[in-house]
Amino acid sequence: RHAQYRKLRTVPAVTLDGVAITLQMNAGLVVDLPYLEDTGATGIGLFRTELQFMVAERMPTMREQQHLYEAIYDGVNGKPITFRTLDIGGDKILPYMDKVEEENPALGWRAIRIGLDRPGLLHAQVRALLKAANGRPVRIMFPMIANCSEFEQAKAIVERQKAYLVRHGHPLPSEIKLGVMVEVPSLLLELDEICAQADFLSVGTNDLMQFLFAADRENRFVANRFDNLSTPMIRALKRIVDKADKHNCSVTVCGDIGGKPIEALALFGLGFRSLSMTPAAVGPMKALVLKLNIAEVSSIMEKALSTHDDGSLLRQALNDFVETRG
Ligand code: PEP
Ligand code: MG
Repeated sequence: RHAQYRKLRTVPAVTLDGVAITLQMNAGLVVDLPYLEDTGATGIGLFRTELQFMVAERMPTMREQQHLYEAIYDGVNGKPITFRTLDIGGDKILPYMDKVEEENPALGWRAIRIGLDRPGLLHAQVRALLKAANGRPVRIMFPMIANCSEFEQAKAIVERQKAYLVRHGHPLPSEIKLGVMVEVPSLLLELDEICAQADFLSVGTNDLMQFLFAADRENRFVANRFDNLSTPMIRALKRIVDKADKHNCSVTVCGDIGGKPIEALALFGLGFRSLSMTPAAVGPMKALVLKLNIAEVSSIMEKALSTHDDGSLLRQALNDFVETRG
């Protein structure tokens, strides 16, 4: 089967009814780069920059960050990369950083919250990203954005670093696209505004699920209590893709469900056309797309959106669909 997927590497991901799907991969270290060629992913849809920080013994310097980003740029052969700024805190602990005691780390001081409160860190990272681009296009997204105001503050940091580059005679990226991770449910109630402000959205379904259902993704007693295909979650996802389309804001799903066949069918049926997933899932997902009629999963999802279901009915319907279609 592996050989069969390899053959699909250069085949465009287009469904039987002619819908083009973007299949990108998630990455975080230089060792992930070869997967881009191996899998035929069209780019890196989520580059988790915190991995460099998590494997290091001390805080990586700005220069070390820049070197990593340069290596990534050099390794992707012009394919697009979306860098996510540091997502530390919560379940992602840096051993060398002073541990802050928190009752609820997932709800605590993490990701963009640290970035905005200790802006030195985010300024350094943004500078490293802009310098590493060295005149190439750059895409940067911010994790755990809870409202438009946080995105505005993050954008202001990018503006300041652009001015720094100009002042110091460094070339600016040919294009700067700034995006938002949609993973905190409050943002679902500011989607019109965030779509108008952002160049793109990326849906972090791992955290969105955790926060939507108030169920810790790391806690085995509750992590599997709610289904990604249950009515509240698919309605949340529908809302995101509809608002993005309405505002012509591109949207990708980069959470783990994007790499799972049944969940991905649901996403296609809801209107998503771009996924970023673990590298091993890209080949099988391409094979699935090539055999798919989007119209069929759209009608399954239309029905699902108007019932209430803990996920079991929809899961069954999509499983049946896969089985009858081979
Ligand atoms: C997510 O939350 O779905 C996501 C992609 O980010 P992470 O898993 O790194 O939190
Ligand atoms: Mg997340």
